Amino acid sequence: MKRQCPDPECSTRNSSPKTKGLVRKGTYFRRSDGQRISRYRCRECGKSFSSGTLFSCYRQKKRKLNHPLELLLNSGVSQRRAAILLRVNRKTVVRKFRFLAQQARSEHEQWLKTLETRPLTSVQFDDLETSEHTKCKPLSVALAVEPKCRKILGFQVSAMPAKGHLSRVALRKYGPREDRRSEGWNTLFEKLKPVVSPTAVWLSDKNPHYPRHLHRHHPEASHRTTPGRRGCIAGQGELKKIGFDPLFSLNHTCAMLRANLNRLFRRTWCTTKTKQGLIDHLSLYVNYHNRMLTPTGPR
Ligand SMILES: [Zn+2]
Repeated sequence: MKRQCPDPECSTRNSSPKTKGLVRKGTYFRRSDGQRISRYRCRECGKSFSSGTLFSCYRQKKRKLNHPLELLLNSGVSQRRAAILLRVNRKTVVRKFRFLAQQARSEHEQWLKTLETRPLTSVQFDDLETSEHTKCKPLSVALAVEPKCRKILGFQVSAMPAKGHLSRVALRKYGPREDRRSEGWNTLFEKLKPVVSPTAVWLSDKNPHYPRHLHRHHPEASHRTTPGRRGCIAGQGELKKIGFDPLFSLNHTCAMLRANLNRLFRRTWCTTKTKQGLIDHLSLYVNYHNRMLTPTGPR
């Protein structure tokens, strides 16, 4: 439980121990999780507060749902079904989904900070395609993975124009769509600068645009490529037919994304409605994937 004055300008915030100048001011029963919470008063500024004041779920009335909802949303359950299973309103699920995504993002940032002391020497990267609302509006997810433990280092979602026979339909129905994939790659490579060694080995497929973006941000890095392969089953592009796949960690991670996020399933009713929704869901999953679904051994 956090015990410090909630006023950021209060002088007790900078003193150590931070509990100096605080006096107990009774307790109250928190109905949302059945806990008895202590209250305190700051002698310096006279403000009173509780040990729950500085927590991120302060003032939430359904804090008990946060953890089960995180598990459901990372296990292929749709937001609507999660609302039914947890017996809450759909709007509650949406609000909690956004809150949890924000939490997951800051946890991921903190985790990345811990990597800065020992920068990575190898990274795999590629993109995964999905769409918002209709196949005519595709989205590209740029993804970078640490190959030994399959930790996801970062991702960027960017719009791209439709390809193939849909390109004409898309143009007629929705007008021209900008290709923002270059921006996405630039942002991702820039973000990874502190956690990846300048001379690291980057592995990807033979996409002709990759070397340009990579070398702009990591000029000393060595870029290795491997030819793209066909998937083993039609519609399962991630799992390759060949015995040894040099890009295994990345392809396996993409397969896990496709298996665990209902909006990324192949042939699903659930689709991404907004780009931000996809970003939030990916943020939520990335944190769960790195914490719970991948080994934590030495790198
Ligand atoms: Zn104070």
